Amino acid sequence: MIPAKIGSHTTPIKVAGKGSERNRLPPIKLNLLALTNNVKVKCELCNQWGSLQCAHCRVTYYCCEEHMELDRTLHEDICHRIEMLRQPIEFSPSQDTRERMKKQKRVLLEEMYEYTYRQGQTSMEAGQYDKAIPAAVVSAKYAREIWGTSAEVIPPLLVAAECYVNKGKLGTADGFLARVLCIELETTNLKPSIKARIKRNEGLIHQAKINYQDALECYAEEIYQNTEEFGPTHIRTSGGYCYLGHMFQLKANELTALSLYRQTVDIWINTVDPILEEMTSQPDVPVIGALKPQQEKQWMYECDKLEGLKILTKARIARRKASRGATRRT
Ligand SMILES: [Zn+2]
Ligand SMILES: [Zn+2]
Repeated sequence: MIPAKIGSHTTPIKVAGKGSERNRLPPIKLNLLALTNNVKVKCELCNQWGSLQCAHCRVTYYCCEEHMELDRTLHEDICHRIEMLRQPIEFSPSQDTRERMKKQKRVLLEEMYEYTYRQGQTSMEAGQYDKAIPAAVVSAKYAREIWGTSAEVIPPLLVAAECYVNKGKLGTADGFLARVLCIELETTNLKPSIKARIKRNEGLIHQAKINYQDALECYAEEIYQNTEEFGPTHIRTSGGYCYLGHMFQLKANELTALSLYRQTVDIWINTVDPILEEMTSQPDVPVIGALKPQQEKQWMYECDKLEGLKILTKARIARRKASRGATRRT
């Protein structure tokens, strides 16, 4: 069983036995000319015409074997759910049944959005970009299906963009970011934390293109936006200080860089310390049980932990490098 959502949702998503016979069924090759006019078969990942069909759920299509392979791991987890999701409800006899089915479908779609998004983000934080990209793309698709063009579509698109930056495919990353910026233009009252994430992404692309000044300005804006929503000493704000510090280091301003790294580490120590204290004062209580709900919410998300680890490692390496440089100079 895999949790549908790390956090408030506890509804589990049952995983069809991986590698079972039903998952090993070869894909069905479609004859597109045989389809009736109003049947749309679009690739799950790129929206081009699909010519291959999942032999189990028969409602998921791919344009080519490469895209089918890319989506295979994630699809094996959710294939049977998609089957339920795509069942037509228009033909049910009673109005009540149709309404109930609509509601069930909406709940299922939201669960799938959450699940695929978390899969995308945790895989990205773990450096598994080829696993993260299909999950993020599919998640953005569910968000569109549920909410249309809205703020919810942005986070998974940003995950995909960041993965492509890390893979060195900046053109594709630019494409995803452009889609995000279009949604940003069309959406009012976007939360500061979402604006911050967009700025982080823009910063990463500038950084990869060696435009350090532009990247620096993006990270500074990220800190400003996160401060608006969480305050200046929250772990969600801490990442911006670390990325900004890195830019100052690349611009040979080591003192500012070190002070920003210190700020990052201090925020984490101040957040984690009371939690650890509480855990050690109640050694018999399981780790998760010792956390208060708000603390759990604040930092127990898998991706927060992974992002924290990444940021603190970055800060540690940078501080060591700077202290070695200082020793050489004295
Ligand atoms: Zn495709
Ligand atoms: Zn399937």
